[in-house]
Amino acid sequence: MQNNKPSKTDRTLIIIKPDGVQRSLIGEITKRYERAGLKLVAIKMLVPTPEMVEKHYTLDPEWRRITGEKTIKGYLDKGLIPPLTDPFEITARILERLKKYMTSGPVIAMVWQGAHAVPIVRKITGGTEPLQSDVGTIRGDFVLDSYQLSDEGERSVRNLVHASGSPDEAEKEIKHWFSDSEILNYRLIQEQIIYDVNIDGIFE
Ligand code: UDP
Ligand code: MG
Repeated sequence: MQNNKPSKTDRTLIIIKPDGVQRSLIGEITKRYERAGLKLVAIKMLVPTPEMVEKHYTLDPEWRRITGEKTIKGYLDKGLIPPLTDPFEITARILERLKKYMTSGPVIAMVWQGAHAVPIVRKITGGTEPLQSDVGTIRGDFVLDSYQLSDEGERSVRNLVHASGSPDEAEKEIKHWFSDSEILNYRLIQEQIIYDVNIDGIFE
């Protein structure tokens, strides 16, 4: 049984994908997590290898099934015919395309910390398919891609950002991209106003 109690030390992994870097959206994307009150505790720029990308997406043994089913539903909900009917065949193809996409240029990997970090970041990031992502989210505001368009181009959905899907996934992903010494422990002054039971010490 997982301990689901929110804590200000909850963490999540974000990767600004190559299209986010190429579209000069590093500042815009980072700003949105930062202004929510989350704390940046690790950051680096790198070009991932195909092996790192494959490992990243298969850390969760359920990812292949869940993502395949989600993509099929994305087609069916719009009255479209999915290109394949087996979720595992779909994800095998998605994974090959992801390896090309995620290694096509530099990415920014970051760890953000704060209460409810995983669901808060998913909310700010928006749903996987930009065509369906809510307005006001990163994927909803800056992308016009869809499953259909990307499949026609035999490429990945370009949706700017990766964000961990669950606390369990986040923990594994953070370990995959960062060593312990790359993650910093420090206090942000604003945490007092976000988390402390009493707000005092403001007036002089
Ligand atoms: N993806 C894709 N085609 C699909 C489904 C996913 O290209 O039909 C890509 C997309 O870039 C997505 C990534 O694979 O962000 C990982 O998929 P997942 O279902 O984990 O979505 P996420 O967690 O990124 O929202
Ligand atoms: Mg995911």
